[in-house]
Amino acid sequence: MIYLDHAATTPVPRPVADAMYQVLTEQFGNPSSQYPLGREAKALVEEGRAVVAGALGCRPENLHFTSCGTESDNWAISAAVWQGRHTGRHIITTAVEHSAVLEPCKLLQQQGYEVTYLAPDKTGHVTAEQVAQALREDTVLVSMMLVNNETGCIFPVQEVARLLREKNSRALLHCDAVQGFLKVPCDPVGWGVDLMSLSAHKIGGPKGAGALYTAPALRNLRPLLPGGGQEGGLRSGTEATAQIAGFARAVVLRQENLAEKLRHMADIKAYCRERLLSIPGVVPVGQGEAPHILAVSLVGYPSANIVTDLGAKGICISAGSACHRGKASHVVSALHLDKKTAAGVIRVSFGPETTRADIDGLYQALLDHKNQRFPML
Ligand code: PLP
Repeated sequence: MIYLDHAATTPVPRPVADAMYQVLTEQFGNPSSQYPLGREAKALVEEGRAVVAGALGCRPENLHFTSCGTESDNWAISAAVWQGRHTGRHIITTAVEHSAVLEPCKLLQQQGYEVTYLAPDKTGHVTAEQVAQALREDTVLVSMMLVNNETGCIFPVQEVARLLREKNSRALLHCDAVQGFLKVPCDPVGWGVDLMSLSAHKIGGPKGAGALYTAPALRNLRPLLPGGGQEGGLRSGTEATAQIAGFARAVVLRQENLAEKLRHMADIKAYCRERLLSIPGVVPVGQGEAPHILAVSLVGYPSANIVTDLGAKGICISAGSACHRGKASHVVSALHLDKKTAAGVIRVSFGPETTRADIDGLYQALLDHKNQRFPML
């Protein structure tokens, strides 16, 4: 198998699975229990929190574990609009956020909120200037992702944070950093971001684990799940100890020689780009800078067919976001490509494990697809 879909999810390295297995079978106590097995589980959760918080550069008490990036995004948005309920009902986000941000925004629109969706340019980027133009007195939330999951474009989150400060805006800044964490510079504390979402399974951790950073200045945060009082009373529910241990172990592993891993991914991406663009009819899509995501189009060849065809040969890539399952991607639509280019968009994404031989396999399979199939008219 050639796995080139690391933006969808990543393989769990053995040490991460081992750490989880040990928690599941031996250190399985409930962190709320008052005997040693419970206290050991509680210590594991707090060690995990310290590790993930350390990697993000924040204090452990400002990091709350959740079940996934989607949950973190939903929580951030609902907490932010609650926080700003006396300020107004205007939200700014981008047209190319993940559905985990766009769908809660749509629900808020049904409740009377006004949402401005910033459109990307042809390269896939949005600017802080666009935020400045859209900002109003009654803006309560700006939600901007760090790295777009389909184009790999890096968004100017640091600049937007500075802009909000300069304008004395009361809007909170949320950043979905699910695709950015441990891939590109990410510093919520230094930048002055209020809320930041993470997910474990994009960096070699298990599915079912995420985190939300909340700035120390955010007081009386609205709890996501009222209940038994876990996660500082903000997100009740017995802690997913194995997932948290796996998340933390994945962070530790990923951080080992991180610069080298990122250089490797960037090299692989450059190699992949060069090889795929050498196929007549393949064009670049957007100009994403993140080291792990490359979008191209095999113009006129429907991407769903490419993905199925390559999948049958054991090559895993994605037609835009894996979350859209065949539906036309809103990110591709927002780039205003011509119909045939839009139809053929595929996303190839890399991890530290990806080799040049994987790329050669993809190249050959794409070439074969092109030679064996007919383009749309
Ligand atoms: N945000 C972005 C940018 C993503 O790419 C994803 C997953 O693909 C998510 C949020 C959702 O994360 P999770 O799968 O952990 O819910």
